[in-house]
Amino acid sequence: MYDARMSPPSVTISARGAERLRHGHPWIYRSDIRESSAEPGDLVRVMSERGRPLGSGFWSSESQISLRFLGQEDVAGERAERAMLTARIEAALAFRQSLGIDATAWRAVNAESDRLPGLIVDVYGDGAGRVVVMQALTQAMDRRMKMVGEILTQLLTPVGILARNDQKVRRLEGLEESVAVVAGDVPDGIEVREGPVSYTVDVRLGQKTGLFLDQRENHEAASRYARGRALDAFTYNGGFALRMAARCESVLALDSSAAAVGATRANAERNGAGNVDAQEGNAFDILRELEIARERFDTIVLDPPAFAKNKASVERAAAGYKEINLRALKILTPGGCLMTCTCSYHMREELFHQVLEEAAADAHATVTVVEKRAQARDHPILLNVPETHYLKCFVLRKLS
Ligand code: SAH
Repeated sequence: MYDARMSPPSVTISARGAERLRHGHPWIYRSDIRESSAEPGDLVRVMSERGRPLGSGFWSSESQISLRFLGQEDVAGERAERAMLTARIEAALAFRQSLGIDATAWRAVNAESDRLPGLIVDVYGDGAGRVVVMQALTQAMDRRMKMVGEILTQLLTPVGILARNDQKVRRLEGLEESVAVVAGDVPDGIEVREGPVSYTVDVRLGQKTGLFLDQRENHEAASRYARGRALDAFTYNGGFALRMAARCESVLALDSSAAAVGATRANAERNGAGNVDAQEGNAFDILRELEIARERFDTIVLDPPAFAKNKASVERAAAGYKEINLRALKILTPGGCLMTCTCSYHMREELFHQVLEEAAADAHATVTVVEKRAQARDHPILLNVPETHYLKCFVLRKLS
C-alpha cells in the first residue's frame, strides 16, 4: 500500500554529480547539490536536474560529502530501510564467509565497499564469546545505530556490541565522539586468533577497533619472507613481530606507545615467543641509532601510522616515508626483505613507489619489488572509488 507520508525527502543534484554517479562513484559533494529538503541523516530520493529519479542516498547536513548514494532502488519507509540494510549486511557476511579467513578477528562490513557507506563492523572472538564492534561514521548511520545493532544481533548473535564512535572523522559530520556498549556485555579483554598467533584484544581502548585487521594477510605474507634477525619498527600489539618470530632467530619490535609495547610483550609471552624483544621508542630515532651502530637485520617491516592525513601534508609525509625506508635499506643485509607499508590514501601507489625508488638510490641499494600488496580481502577496494584503496604494502628485496 502506498503511503505518501513514507515518501522520502528529495535532493536534486547537478549534471556533474549525476555523471559522477554514472561512473560508479557514490559521493556527491556539496557543490553539486542543487536543492534539498532533507534533514540530517535522512535517506533521500536522489533527483537529476531534469527531475528524473536516480535512486536513493544518505544525506549529511554537515560533511562536504553531502550525499552517499545507495543505488538505483527506491527505498521508502523504515521497513524498506531495514530490509535494505539487512540484505546488504547479509551479503557482506556471506562474502566474508566465502574468504576462508584463518582468524577469529575479521571485518564484517567495510562501508562503501559493502554498499553500506559510513558503517564499519568488526567481529572479535569465536562462538559464544563473539563480540561485535561497530562504527557509525556518518549522520545517517549514527541515526540508524539501533536498527543496525538489532540486525547485527540477529545475524551474528554476539555476546555484546560496542560502538567505537570515537573516530575524528565523525567531527566532519557534526557528530560527537563516544564509546558505548549498545547491546549485551563487552569484556575488557577478548581472546582472538590470527593464523597460529593468539592475542588478547582491548576493543574499548585499542587503536582502530582493537587490532589492525587490514594487515592480517600481510602478517601472513611476512611470515613467508621472515628469516634471521628481524625488525618490526611500528609493531602495535606485535602483528608482524609475532608472526615472524616462529621463522626468525630474533625479532626486535618497536613502538612509541607504552600500551602497545606492553601488549606486545604480553602477547609474545602468551605465544611462547621468547625471541621477541619489544621496546618503547621513536622508530625514527632508533633506526638512526641502529644505522650508526652498524647493526644489521635480515628482515624488516615498516608499518607506520598514516603520515599524510590530507592532501596538504603529502610532501612532508613523503619525506618521512623516505627517511625510514632509506635507513631500513641501509641496515638490511643483502638478500634480505623489507616489507614496507603506507596506510595513507593520499600516498598513492605511484608516489610511494617513487619515494621507495629515491630511498634505494640514496642508500646505494639495488632493490627488486617482489610483491605489491594491499589491505586484507575483508577490506575490499571498491573499483571506482580510489579512496577505498588506502593500504599499500611493497615487499622489497635488497640484492646488494
Ligand atoms: N604493524 C601493526 C600496526 C601498526 S600501526 C600491526 O600490523 O598490527 C602504527 C603504530 O606505530 C602504532 O602502534 C603507533 O603507536 C606506532 N607509532 C607511531 N609513531 C611512531 C614512532 N615515531 N615510532 C614508533 N612507533 C610509532
